[in-house]
Amino acid sequence: MIRKIVFLIIFLWTPCLAVGEMVHDVYFRGKNHELDVYRIYGKEDGPTLMIMGGIQGNEPGGYLAADLYVDMALKKGNLIVVPRANFYSILVNKRGATGDMNRKFSSVSTHDPDSEVVKKIKEIMRQTDYFLNLHDGSGFYHPEYIDDMHNPRRYGQSIIVDTDKYITPTGKELDLGSLADRVIRQVNSSIKESEYRFRLNNHRTSAPDSIHKEQRRSATFYALTHLHKPAFACETSKSIKDFRKRVVFQTMVVNAFMKEIGIVPEQPSIYIEPPRMKYALISINNANPIAIYNNQRIFVTRGDFLEVVSVVSNYKRGVIANILGLGQLNDIGQPFRIHKPTTIEIKKDMFPCGKVHIDVTSKLNHTWLITDVNNKIYALSPDEVITVEKGATIELKDLVYMGSTSHGLNVNFKGFVPNWSNNTGEDRGYKIDTSKLLGRYATQIDKTTRRYRICAMRGNNRIVSFYIDIIDATK
Ligand SMILES: [Zn+2]
Repeated sequence: MIRKIVFLIIFLWTPCLAVGEMVHDVYFRGKNHELDVYRIYGKEDGPTLMIMGGIQGNEPGGYLAADLYVDMALKKGNLIVVPRANFYSILVNKRGATGDMNRKFSSVSTHDPDSEVVKKIKEIMRQTDYFLNLHDGSGFYHPEYIDDMHNPRRYGQSIIVDTDKYITPTGKELDLGSLADRVIRQVNSSIKESEYRFRLNNHRTSAPDSIHKEQRRSATFYALTHLHKPAFACETSKSIKDFRKRVVFQTMVVNAFMKEIGIVPEQPSIYIEPPRMKYALISINNANPIAIYNNQRIFVTRGDFLEVVSVVSNYKRGVIANILGLGQLNDIGQPFRIHKPTTIEIKKDMFPCGKVHIDVTSKLNHTWLITDVNNKIYALSPDEVITVEKGATIELKDLVYMGSTSHGLNVNFKGFVPNWSNNTGEDRGYKIDTSKLLGRYATQIDKTTRRYRICAMRGNNRIVSFYIDIIDATK
């Protein structure tokens, strides 16, 4: 058998320990009939069980149960899991979107849209020692006729075999009935409701008087009579309305089969896959989040709020996003105002798994401070510096922010206080005498020049800055 290694499941990446292995193959990718096959190899050699679900799309108990085994790790033995044999029919929630796939195993027309999938499933069946097909069936199987929902023609809560004993061409006897009986005994010991206990349902499919001759075209019958492999169907009842309960019954049956066959799970399943970030969902100024992929850059305007809303990775738990220089170790779910470029580090526990770079642009579009200097009007751009002589009169006329004058921002000339008894921090509309400013708010640029800052504020947060350099020619 060719083992294509998609990824190794390695405990803490130390090569000295025995490792399990999971191989995922996708056939007919992107088609309605996409077929996903998962092969799980135990650390110790042992028998292989193929678990198939969803051959009929309206049976979620079966395919949801099968899907759970994809994440299983094994101490001993192997699993081949085909959770969605008929994905198309699952998506449309019908028994068969293009006819009943479980009646296509004796022969199928090459024009049939299911033919390629059936052919592939037959090929995969060759690689297993045991085959188990998971279904949700109608009513409750009962060997005698009780009523319409409990009788020999119903399927629910039964394990189906095509025959009790089967002799292979090499003379080996496959005792399907006994194995199913042992599984049923094991499962029933933990089912309280008598109606939900499983029964052995021998279809006697080959017998001339079989009431289930249609099963001669089924997957289990093919596995048994063409490949000579022990094959079973597990049927939970569609009359159990909560399909999650059916999933539980299905897993009880699969677990019992594994135990009887000698496949030993590892608990908890030890799959230590290297963590990989898929993308981070980032919201700027509370807008709808956008997906940013590993190593991408996001551009914000200085003062913007940035929030890492969530990180999508191959792990659900233990994943954090750390905006370097802001917040704490995990900054997911909190908005931060960004003033300078930084990096968001994505980690899963101690393992780095991605980075997003934050670039800050101070270029605010359509933003100006309209300023009157000695009766001359200037439009200052963000971070622009205008130079005036000490004693010049300045009036901050208005602020256009992102093209708008209705932005709710205050304009504060640091070092100018128009009204000592009520300093609102709003300095528009005053004639500001530049010889009477509070020097401690200024930065000394050189011997003769002091720089004052004018800030557009939202509450206590600085949104944009403009600068006035005041030259004192007497110095
Ligand atoms: Zn079915």
